[in-house]
Amino acid sequence: MSDNTSLYDDTLELLQELIRNACVNDLTDDSGHEVRNADTLERFFADTDVQVQRFEPHPGRVSVLFTVPGGDGEPLTLMGHTDVVPVDQDKWTKPPFDAVIEDGVLYGRGAVDMLFITATMAAVTREVARSGKPAGDLTFAALADEEARGGWGSRWLYAHHPDAMSWDNCLSETGGSHLPNSLAFNVGEKGAGQRRLHVHGDAGHGSTPFGKDFAIVKIGEVAHRIAAADAPVATSETWTGFVKAFRFDPVTEQTLIGGQGTAEDYRAFGNLDAYAHAFSHTTLSQTVLRAGGAINVLPSHAYLEMDIRPFPGQTQEDLDEFLRQALGDLADEVTIEHLITEDATQSGTDTALWQAIESTAHEFFPDLDVTPVLATGGSDLRIARRAGGNGYGFALHARARDMAEANSQLHSHDEALHLEDLDLTVQAYRSLVRRFLGV
Ligand SMILES: [Zn+2]
Repeated sequence: MSDNTSLYDDTLELLQELIRNACVNDLTDDSGHEVRNADTLERFFADTDVQVQRFEPHPGRVSVLFTVPGGDGEPLTLMGHTDVVPVDQDKWTKPPFDAVIEDGVLYGRGAVDMLFITATMAAVTREVARSGKPAGDLTFAALADEEARGGWGSRWLYAHHPDAMSWDNCLSETGGSHLPNSLAFNVGEKGAGQRRLHVHGDAGHGSTPFGKDFAIVKIGEVAHRIAAADAPVATSETWTGFVKAFRFDPVTEQTLIGGQGTAEDYRAFGNLDAYAHAFSHTTLSQTVLRAGGAINVLPSHAYLEMDIRPFPGQTQEDLDEFLRQALGDLADEVTIEHLITEDATQSGTDTALWQAIESTAHEFFPDLDVTPVLATGGSDLRIARRAGGNGYGFALHARARDMAEANSQLHSHDEALHLEDLDLTVQAYRSLVRRFLGV
């Protein structure tokens, strides 16, 4: 037990320092300053002989790879991001960057997303570095800029130094929160299909509208038709497994699995209803609308922007085809512009790494099933999957943390980590790494 205690204490101390470094990424290139967390981590590894590779693609945006060279076995890569999202200071009742602990709870920006996992990865990697040679290479990647989709972090690394580490078997956020009878781990994540839809109309004076074609009326109709269309439903094996985890009555279960669920059926998921809906549908959120300037001038152009999230298997062409169908006879009058587009990614569960996740989960919660789930947002794992590797979210939470509660802490005010979850996650990472790398 004693070495468990010191591993936990080392992790907690490191986690508090990572929070206090306040590497806030406001999505601009000059924010983040992950150099502070990179320096902390290099100091953390100072008395080991791990291989250190440091990258600074933009001033302050530092990512560091720490590798313990192993034998010819399968490699393992732990991808932790070091940036955090901004805080709305007025809404916090605790200081967001002091990492204070009260009644077994650690408060701070990044405590949950994802510095507690990043700190755990560092501590477990250091322990392996001190204890001997693993069967395969172990790399801990401390990555910048995850919150801005990895432009100065994982995405940059893969584009410029793809051979700096292995992408074959990767772990990152998030996983190990509780569904009614099982533990959920991310195996995939939805993509991005951002669109800007343009329409045109007649320009003219506001005082003489007779006979004019109005761009604003047209864009309103575009918005209405898309909102009225039934969004595509995913009826995947992953979705089926998720529904079954809830053990609904057979009729509800079959309805939901078959993609026929109504809004009422989705309420059966309780506080996971919006998540379950996003898991199983292409989501189409209309978020930006622009037209006009002066009140006495008919605008000749209007546009609508949409945050669209495709599920695994859907192509960008599929999304455009859906939009054209929804628009019907208006389709020829709408120009569809692509903004950020990334297809969804998903790893299979017939892999050695997934088996290691299952075995580790059962070690700590023998009575629970293990359920692969889809993330509705993004993580660095999509880069690993695009590189041809497998990527899963991994952590472990106490029984009180159902998935809705665990997810509610991401980017929240008073972001709070229960220290029993840190303890479980430290033990689980140590166990999984030993299991997978034979150390
Ligand atoms: Zn995160």
